[in-house]
Amino acid sequence: MCLDNYFTGSKSNIVHLLNRPYFESIRHDVTSPISLEVDEIYNLACPASPVHYQFDPVQTTKTSVLGAINMLGLAKRTGAKILQASTSEVYGDPEVHPQVEGYFGSVNPVGIRACYDEGKRCAETLFFDYYRQHAVPIKVARIFNTYGPRMHPNDGRVVSNFIVRALRGLPIEIYGDGNQTRSFCYVDDLVDGLVKLMATDQDCTGPINLGNPVEFTMIELAKLIISMTNSKSLLVFKPLPQDDPARRRPCIGMAREKLDWSPRISLENGLDKTISYFFNLLKNDE
Ligand code: UDP
Repeated sequence: MCLDNYFTGSKSNIVHLLNRPYFESIRHDVTSPISLEVDEIYNLACPASPVHYQFDPVQTTKTSVLGAINMLGLAKRTGAKILQASTSEVYGDPEVHPQVEGYFGSVNPVGIRACYDEGKRCAETLFFDYYRQHAVPIKVARIFNTYGPRMHPNDGRVVSNFIVRALRGLPIEIYGDGNQTRSFCYVDDLVDGLVKLMATDQDCTGPINLGNPVEFTMIELAKLIISMTNSKSLLVFKPLPQDDPARRRPCIGMAREKLDWSPRISLENGLDKTISYFFNLLKNDE
């Protein structure tokens, strides 16, 4: 069963699943309770791109907090295992590098990213309290920047922005000086990690980092995408948004040890598939 309110998701991404006998799609917003019979829950709900989660920040916090309460309530009633898509944003603008799960983070609680960061932090708190208080079997994954085919062309995050602008020959916008770093995980690797985490024993709750530990500056990413698309796009510099983290890279020692997981797809290979996806999408639009 796939629940989505389609705020950032798109029906075209699941249309190939609709005629499968065991697949059901339900339009639902997790801020409202729902009664279903389930044995595993992946709580992935919440816009994840800064432009989308800052569009209606109150709703973003509600999605994480009320969504967690409603899904944990469902898990408690049905006895289901429940996995939370948490985030590297719980580390805020980190003073510890690479980020280890034991680091408590450095989040500005009143900044423009707080609706997402604090919402996800509160969701983690709820997960661990349901685990301690009600013995709900929980799994918490801290997901680092993830990309791949089926991203929305207006998603607003850096990989899709750079690819779409490079393919259109428009200037690529670098926020700040472009020396901030991120570590990009291809979507298939991430899904593999989530499925492995769900399959662990009850005592493996996380939180556990899932991401690709290879770190790039935004300038390096832009240059790589320009060369892979043979684009004539120029780089232009725009102001850095408030509280934009300077560095981000996961320590994935725990995922290697507990899940026997590490990403297999390099940035070049992942970008290749993502560029092909956007190339076909934009070609059909024209
Ligand atoms: N960024 C950029 N140009 C863009 C979009 C994003 O330079 O068109 C920068 C952004 O300021 C940040 C990094 O790329 O430093 C990653 O941004 P994204 O929104 O993808 O994810 P997040 O900041 O949540 O990691």
